[in-house]
Amino acid sequence: MNAPVVIVGTGLAGYNLAREFRKLDSETPLLLITSDDGRSYSKPMLSTGFGKNKEADGLSMATPEAMAEQLKAQVRTHTRISGIDPGHKQLWIGEEAVPYRDLVLAWGAQTVQVPVEGDAQDAIFPINDLEDYARFRAAAAGKRRVLILGAGLIGCEFANDLIAGGYEVDVVAPCEQVMPTLLHPAAAAAVQAGLESLGARFHLGPVLTRLQRTENGLEAHLSDGSVVPCDVVLSAIGLRPRIDMAAAAGIKVNRGIEVDRQLKTSHANIYALGDCAEVDGLNLLYVMPLMSCARALAQTLAGNTTAVSYGAMPITVKTSVCPLVVSPVPRGCEGVWTVEGQGADIKALCRDADGKLLGYALTGEAVREKLALNKELPALLA
Ligand SMILES: Cc1cc2nc3c(=O)[nH]c(=O)nc-3n(C[C@H](O)[C@H](O)[C@H](O)COP(=O)(O)OP(=O)(O)OC[C@H]3O[C@@H](n4cnc5c(N)ncnc54)[C@H](O)[C@@H]3O)c2cc1C
Repeated sequence: MNAPVVIVGTGLAGYNLAREFRKLDSETPLLLITSDDGRSYSKPMLSTGFGKNKEADGLSMATPEAMAEQLKAQVRTHTRISGIDPGHKQLWIGEEAVPYRDLVLAWGAQTVQVPVEGDAQDAIFPINDLEDYARFRAAAAGKRRVLILGAGLIGCEFANDLIAGGYEVDVVAPCEQVMPTLLHPAAAAAVQAGLESLGARFHLGPVLTRLQRTENGLEAHLSDGSVVPCDVVLSAIGLRPRIDMAAAAGIKVNRGIEVDRQLKTSHANIYALGDCAEVDGLNLLYVMPLMSCARALAQTLAGNTTAVSYGAMPITVKTSVCPLVVSPVPRGCEGVWTVEGQGADIKALCRDADGKLLGYALTGEAVREKLALNKELPALLA
């Protein structure tokens, strides 16, 4: 039998690539391998699940068996790749060698862990997949107070969602504003004020140093000496693209697995997309870029070599109390910010010396202007 196209990972990158590929090629053997349970789900829904009172099962859209049938593919679940041997075009699952015609790495990013003292480290839960979500829901069931580590996009979305789900929320992050790498301070202030109006308490500046069990739950000791009582901790302090196994196989890595515009790594017949990939220097951990990559790579795997391009890719943040759309300024671009509006309705625009729009952050009512502004935005990979 011909060696299959092998996709490692059944997240949005892996399954969408398989779907796009099958539109073009219904015959080539296709094998998907995943270390998780292989259910198809939309990861962005994880940070709206409490408000909608959805269990993990309610967020799952298809079983791996249904996906295998739909994709005319084999889906191997709870199966962890342990190594890649590019010289022999095979990968390793423990002692088992699996040959590939083409190998696609769609194995995502992993959660960052912080060292914390105390006897309650097991009460800290990261959420980066459906199984994490199920574990956190079980831990939070019947509890009242959630401490969120991290005030980035994910931390703020969970703050909004957990409050909508009936929890009290404290947010701890070592930064001066929410979403510091993404947002102009005026927009950040609007989002923070919105979340505070729901009851969220922000502790910006310190980090969690110790988590201790007490008679009434947990005590979170922060580096500024303050103590925050809580019942469970959700960690949203960031994600790191999975690169170690690729690097061990001699594949070039930087922040992510380096690929060119055709999604090719430094090794023949090995490709990458999604959260693990750095595409022409850009490692964007969002859905829109991976969808563009899936369409382009499907063409290449079907024999029609295709380069990916990214248009403007504004991000809609799911802080419903203060709607937010942001289009970060592309790397290497310098501009000047202007801010209009006040309170919850902020329009922050960044323009270059010629007046060309480079990026924006829109909150509240100003979000309505996004369609008009999107037309002015530069493409991220033209
Ligand atoms: C809570 C949350 C909310 C988000 N909301 C938004 C949003 O609103 N909009 C947006 O654009 N983006 C959002 N994102 C980001 C977006 O969801 C991700 O960019 C995207 O889902 C990444 O998909 P992926 O397939 O690359 O990775 P993943 O979904 O992480 O999939 C990785 C796959 O690889 C498998 N795997 C890993 N290692 C191995 C191994 N060694 N062997 C075998 N299999 C392995 C895993 O089991 C998994 O199947 C959100 C992210 C989170 C966490």
